[in-house]
Amino acid sequence: MSIATNLQKIKSTLPENVTLVAVSKTKPVSTLMQAYDAGHRVFGENKVQEMVAKWEEMPKDIQWHMIGHLQRNKVKYMAEFVSLIHGVDSLKLLKEIDKQAKKHKRVIDCLLQIHIATEDTKFGMDEEEVNMLLGSVDFAMLQNIKVVGLMGMATFTDDQEQIKKEFLFLKALYDNLQEMNTANCDLSTLSMGMSGDYQIAIQCGSTMVRIGSSIFGARNY
Ligand SMILES: *Cc1c(COP(=O)(O)O)cnc(C)c1O
Repeated sequence: MSIATNLQKIKSTLPENVTLVAVSKTKPVSTLMQAYDAGHRVFGENKVQEMVAKWEEMPKDIQWHMIGHLQRNKVKYMAEFVSLIHGVDSLKLLKEIDKQAKKHKRVIDCLLQIHIATEDTKFGMDEEEVNMLLGSVDFAMLQNIKVVGLMGMATFTDDQEQIKKEFLFLKALYDNLQEMNTANCDLSTLSMGMSGDYQIAIQCGSTMVRIGSSIFGARNY
């Protein structure tokens, strides 16, 4: 099946308010261009160097999302162009993003990553940490970042009920935080769902799905 067909098939099942991030990590520019030529403009990468290289080579109307775990010393390389950072899991990282965004006189949109899976290997904050971060004076002072939502990854399992439980937990947290409306926090994006679980995620209130293998095929590392 062609990439254009895969994209079209997935898009036809998504509600209108759900954004599709085409996760293109490990794939060459020629492959991404097939999605671009089919009209797709939102791409997700999990490594900063790889995203920068693709950004340099590809048309400039693409929205680049950083979906991977992010090291502070890498933020500077993408601060000029990144459109949304999904995996923010500390105030320290947020401060670095703010600092680098300021150099480019822009505001960078961020999602806070919440740990909802049973696996310890997955990153993210718990509910208490999020409340502490959003309620802190340090956070209130940041002017070049905006927290626009939450992101989470469910446990890698066939147990649909388990996945659903985790997504519903994230949705409830997202709903609770809606009242936290401040200058740099205004939640409108709930990033949850990948190739294997995006249908469940949408049932649970996702507004942004990150889909790789169902569009581009399996990844070879
Ligand atoms: C790789 C990746 C995806 C996409 O995974 P698929 O199963 O290929 O759809 C989504 N989110 C994150 C954070 C990823 O690293």
